Amino acid sequence: MDFSFTEEEERFRAEVRRFLKKEVTEELLKDLEERGEVDFSREFTKKLAEKGWLAMSWPKEYGGGGASMMEQLIFGEELGYHHAPSGAHRQGINLIGPCLIVHGTEEQKGKYLRAITRGEVVWCQGFSEPNAGSDLASLQCRAVADGDDYVIDGQKVWTSNAHRADWCHLLTRTDPDAPRHRGISYFLVDMKSPGITIRPLINMLASHDFNEVFLDNVRVPKENMIGEKNQGWYVSQTTLNFERSGIAVPASAKRTLEQLVEYAKETKRNGKPLARDPIIRHKLSEMAVEIEVGRMIAYRVAWMQGKGLIPSYEASMSKLYGTELVKRLGDIGMQIMGLYSQLETGSKWVPLRGRIERAYLFSLGATIAMGTSEIMKNIIAVRGLELPRG
Ligand SMILES: Cc1cc2nc3c(=O)[nH]c(=O)nc-3n(C[C@H](O)[C@H](O)[C@H](O)COP(=O)(O)OP(=O)(O)OC[C@H]3O[C@@H](n4cnc5c(N)ncnc54)[C@H](O)[C@@H]3O)c2cc1C
Repeated sequence: MDFSFTEEEERFRAEVRRFLKKEVTEELLKDLEERGEVDFSREFTKKLAEKGWLAMSWPKEYGGGGASMMEQLIFGEELGYHHAPSGAHRQGINLIGPCLIVHGTEEQKGKYLRAITRGEVVWCQGFSEPNAGSDLASLQCRAVADGDDYVIDGQKVWTSNAHRADWCHLLTRTDPDAPRHRGISYFLVDMKSPGITIRPLINMLASHDFNEVFLDNVRVPKENMIGEKNQGWYVSQTTLNFERSGIAVPASAKRTLEQLVEYAKETKRNGKPLARDPIIRHKLSEMAVEIEVGRMIAYRVAWMQGKGLIPSYEASMSKLYGTELVKRLGDIGMQIMGLYSQLETGSKWVPLRGRIERAYLFSLGATIAMGTSEIMKNIIAVRGLELPRG
C-alpha cells in the first residue's frame, strides 16, 4: 500500500497550507466565534475564489478548476485541519452548482454559476420539512402553476443559513397524485421574495445557524425550475465527480486532538500535568487511533473516485465513522477538562476559547445533518453487507 502523494501534489499541499496559515488566523477564528458565525465567512469564501480554489472540483468551462481527485482531497484535508469556515459556499459549490451544471438551462448556468465560483452568492437548502427528514420524499410544500409563475406554499425546517442566504434551492410537490418520488419539482428561490418568513431555531450551542422557513404564496418565475416538472427528486440526486470522502471531519478532529494534547501537557491538576494521568493518556491515544482510521476510510473513498469508481456505502461509512468519532472526541475533551469544560466562549477561564464545549455540543447535529447515523447504517447494511431491506 502506497500512500505517498506526487511531488506536484505535495507542492500544492504546501501552497494551500501557507495560504491557510496566513488567512485562517486565530484572530479570524476568534472574531467568528464572537460573532456566533464559527463556520461562516463571506470574506474567506471570496479569498478562496480569488485563488481559484473555491470551485476547484468543477469543470473548467464553468469557471471551475478541473482539479484531480487527489488535489481535492488535499484541499479538503487542509481546510478541515485549519478549521476554515465553509458555511458561506458549501451549498453553492457542492450541491446546487453541480445540479445546474448537469440539468440547468444555458440561461440558468449563465445567471448563477459564475456568481457561485466568485463567492458572491450564499445559498441555503430547503429540503427538510416538519414531517419529511430521513423520509424526504414525503415532503408536502406545494408549488402550483399560475401564469408565468409557480406559487409556493409550505414550510421548511432546519434550513441552515437561511437568514444569511441570498437564494434557496428547494424541493416542492407539484403533483400530489403521482407516486411520491415522481411528483416533486426543484426550484431556485430568491430569499427576498415576498411571502418568505424566516424564524430562527436556536441550537443547543445557543447559536443561530438554522431556521424555520415559511413560504406563503411565494411567486417564483417558471424559468426558476431546474430540470423537468416532477423530476426534481432525480435532479436533486445529481452529483458531479467532486471529492466527497468526508476527509474534512477527521482532519478537523486531528487539529482538535493536537490542541487537547497541548492542553494536557500545560495544565496541572493536583500538582501533576494532566498528560501524566494514565487514564487521560489512554483516552488521547485512543482518539489518535480513531482519527487515523477515519482518515484512512476517507482516503479510500477519494481513491475510489480517482479510479472512476462510484462510492456508495463506503461514503456512508466515512460519514458515519467521522461524525461519531467527533462525538467521542468532544466527550473525551469534556472529561479531560473537567468542570472547566462547561464554561462557554467568552468566559475568562474557559480553556481553548470554548472550542471543546462547542465541538461537544455541535457534534450531535453532525451525526444528523446530511443523513443520520441510523440512515448511514441502513445503507451499509443493504449495499455493503447485502442484507435484506429492513
Ligand atoms: C446541524 C443540522 C443542519 C441541517 N441543515 C439542513 C439544511 O440546511 N437544509 C435541510 O433541508 N435540512 C437540514 N437539516 C435537516 C436534516 O437533513 C434532517 O434533520 C435529517 O435528514 C433527519 O431528519 P429529521 O430531523 O426529520 O429526523 P427523522 O427522519 O424524523 O428521524 C428521527 C430519528 O429516527 C431515525 N430514523 C428515521 N428513519 C429511520 C430508518 N429508516 N431506520 C432507522 N432509523 C430511522 C433517525 O435516525 C433519527 O434518529 C439539518 C440538520 C442538522 C442537525
